[in-house]
Amino acid sequence: MKITMAHGSGGRSTSRLIDEVFRSANANPILDMMEDSAVVDGAAKIAVTTDSFVVTPLFFKGGDIGRLAVCGTVNDLLMRGAVPKYITSAYIIEEGADFETLSKIAQSMAETAKEAGVTVIAGDTKVVEGNGGIYINTTGVGFVYDGADIRSANCKAGDAIIVSGTLGDHHAAILSERMGIENNIKSDCAPLCDMVRNMMDAGVEIHAMRDVTRGGLGTVLNEFSKASGCRFELDEDSIPINPEVAGFNKILGLNVMHMGNEGKLVGIIAPRDAERALKIIRNSRYGTAAEIIGTVTDGEGVVMNTHVGGRRAIIELYGEGLPRIC
Ligand code: MG
Repeated sequence: MKITMAHGSGGRSTSRLIDEVFRSANANPILDMMEDSAVVDGAAKIAVTTDSFVVTPLFFKGGDIGRLAVCGTVNDLLMRGAVPKYITSAYIIEEGADFETLSKIAQSMAETAKEAGVTVIAGDTKVVEGNGGIYINTTGVGFVYDGADIRSANCKAGDAIIVSGTLGDHHAAILSERMGIENNIKSDCAPLCDMVRNMMDAGVEIHAMRDVTRGGLGTVLNEFSKASGCRFELDEDSIPINPEVAGFNKILGLNVMHMGNEGKLVGIIAPRDAERALKIIRNSRYGTAAEIIGTVTDGEGVVMNTHVGGRRAIIELYGEGLPRIC
């Protein structure tokens, strides 16, 4: 069955769409009340973030727009030292979208929310004229760990730079789908709750943390540099990259430092905790390929110490030049 404008009317078709697709996937006592807003328990400090997801194709190797819409928001909460608790889900659906497709996406979103330990507490659907497109906005709320103060300005000279795994996977997977290139590259789309919780519970001194999404590691580290007034020195040989992604990048002339992931973080860790943090991440879900890739020093900018013994500045990604990957 196809979605028609009647599914957005607010009448019986809308109720059917909500009941069959969204409520059935996310049934819980808060959502089931079907009130105008959700009233939930809170915490001393909460983290809030919102993000919209417009990726095409809707399904790709390693994930889909529903999984992505949960991971993107959950990971942004985690990066401030918060435990993700609640999420909202708003769909903008173009006329002609497939009912089955929508159900699969809602199901995937529900499964990912369950994996991440977040409850879907509010939702919305709008049907608009168009050509079968589906877009999702999610807003997330997390409870911040007592005393956590994780932010870009806290990076200090001497800190270790850790990435939680191979870079560029999500970007390469989406590009492959878009260009019709056959390969085994899969998106890394994943909620990073386990590794962050394990570090927080162990009292690791995390100064700053970001998920490495649109713009890539090069952009994140340049932002850290500007906020903290420090230099970020990287060792090219220690940057983890899946060999198939490396090959793909070579053919297309892509720089992994500007490629997005959806299941990797970069942590700036106090030197005395660096080895401990690395071990914790490697022992956590989705963190087996973590590496220490460099050090924060006095100075400014981001510098790569290359494989051949040279040094090159890494700048932020500018312009677009790449397809929408999230
Ligand atoms: Mg982020």
